[in-house]
Amino acid sequence: MIPNQISPPQRILMGPGPSDIHPSVLAALAAPTVGHLDPYFLKVMDEVQSMLRAVFQTTNQMTMAISGTGSAGMEACVVNLIEPGDRMIVGVNGVFGGRMADVAERVGAEVTKIERPFGEVFTPEEVAAAVAKVRPKVVGIVHAETSTGALQPLEEIAKIVHDAGALLIVDCVTSLAGLPVEIDRLGIDAAYSGSQKCLGCPPGLAPVTFGPKALEVMDQRKKKVSSWYLDIGLLRNYWGNNRAYHHTAPINMNYALHQALRLVLQEGLEARYVRHRLHHTALKTGLEAMGIRYSVAAETSLPMLNSVLIPEGADDAAVRSQLLNEFGIEIGGGLGPMKGKTWRIGLMGEAAKMSNVLLFLAALEQCLNRQGIMPTPGAAIAAANAVYCS
Ligand SMILES: *Cc1c(COP(=O)(O)O)cnc(C)c1O
Repeated sequence: MIPNQISPPQRILMGPGPSDIHPSVLAALAAPTVGHLDPYFLKVMDEVQSMLRAVFQTTNQMTMAISGTGSAGMEACVVNLIEPGDRMIVGVNGVFGGRMADVAERVGAEVTKIERPFGEVFTPEEVAAAVAKVRPKVVGIVHAETSTGALQPLEEIAKIVHDAGALLIVDCVTSLAGLPVEIDRLGIDAAYSGSQKCLGCPPGLAPVTFGPKALEVMDQRKKKVSSWYLDIGLLRNYWGNNRAYHHTAPINMNYALHQALRLVLQEGLEARYVRHRLHHTALKTGLEAMGIRYSVAAETSLPMLNSVLIPEGADDAAVRSQLLNEFGIEIGGGLGPMKGKTWRIGLMGEAAKMSNVLLFLAALEQCLNRQGIMPTPGAAIAAANAVYCS
């Protein structure tokens, strides 16, 4: 028996990613596939690179899309900058910092974790103290911790790391195209992202960028990069001027990213940041009117990922499946120690819009009612609307 042709449901993706995708981005996936060395595709690659530079706010030549998801971008940054025995500090205040530490250990780094409870962020002082003690080659930190909803300020940390002569790797999987990611202004040496969060593209590509100091460190390596697939030295020959075959780039995914980046730049970075912030404010005001509280301090709350405490008496799984089955809305549950304690409501890329916020608040009110929790009817929508009308 041959299975039926796929016919996926139309969801509203308000979880931690993937996020909603503009029809023109999906349409790009269905465009004719050309060869990976076809002059047409080489032009697409050039344009993807130049649009990525604009979104990362960098002039780094070595800016490209790794074939793989955000985690492949993470591995690419770590594996190219670390040689066995190198010291690396990783900030672990959520699942993704933990993943970066794991990746670094596998590559043979001598890893020092600095830790913070889930939901908190690092102070410049504690990073400075660790850097002074460890004298690392590389420091890795997560800009937007999608597992907790916390935003890590980077400016002072970047200065501390550079003053100590170390390199800074930043995870901007969730922040890129939703919050300013200022690679050149902060001198971030290496950064990676993912196509499926605020860039509004399906999962499958990991934009990365490497600055001059990172390239210098790679050129001075004593040992070959332990991953052939993610070796930036080899990838530079494909994404750089030589155009030498390395692997077959996922052609149609690059079309999709090209269109997604066009939409980002057409909207304008500043306007896009403002939009994410606006819908976050409306959602937050609505949720609070319903008696729901955030699990992160207001000053460090991410606009694109709203992590809230599940109200007392509500059944986590029942609410999420009612949201999905009756309203087509996907939100995320808590990860790690937050499992069963938080909901993660994403407002990423295309999903950050008024109709999603208002529908979600109305839907959640119904779901809570079913659980015997009775918020004042309509209060959340009225509060969110007040934000939109002000
Ligand atoms: C989603 C995410 C990742 C991992 O990306 P995948 O595309 O799932 O491999 C890494 N870091 C952060 C902060 C993320 O949000």
